[in-house]
Amino acid sequence: MDKCYSCGGSVRVIKDQPYEYKECGLPIVLRGILQYTCEDCGETYASIPAMEKLHRVIGEIICRERKALLQPDEIKFLRKNMQLKSKELAQWLGVTPSTVSRWENGKKDIGESQDRLLRSIYLLSVSEKDHKAISDGTTNIFKELPQKRKKIKSPREISFNPQEWLLPDRDCCLT
Ligand SMILES: [Zn+2]
Repeated sequence: MDKCYSCGGSVRVIKDQPYEYKECGLPIVLRGILQYTCEDCGETYASIPAMEKLHRVIGEIICRERKALLQPDEIKFLRKNMQLKSKELAQWLGVTPSTVSRWENGKKDIGESQDRLLRSIYLLSVSEKDHKAISDGTTNIFKELPQKRKKIKSPREISFNPQEWLLPDRDCCLT
């Protein structure tokens, strides 16, 4: 990128700066990407490669590592990432569309079973998209989830290693 999208001014590359990826609706900080700042108007841009893979990885991390009940913005992120309408997710989870909306706007906590079901469905959908078997240890997620989680909140930032999404997938071979 050599010209500013807003004013056409010249841009400067910034390396090794964490980038708050607010556009995805979650408290994600990305590392290892290039950013650009306009010398004229001060606008800053990030260059995010492999966006689809990034979103898949974020979703997987939410499903695998967030111990608290899924939060409203996390539920929305998982649903959108599976390209489902509220109505469709509701159908999959056996609840009404208005229940899904209430989870997503924070008026109601997701239930324990639906939390686990949504995580399972998400991981299944990722494996379908990638045409890969789900990796070993996936069911351990459920072993480690607390049983009653009404009051537990997740720490805000979701962090992960850039290598998880910036490197191409290793070829998997069966021996
Ligand atoms: Zn500019």
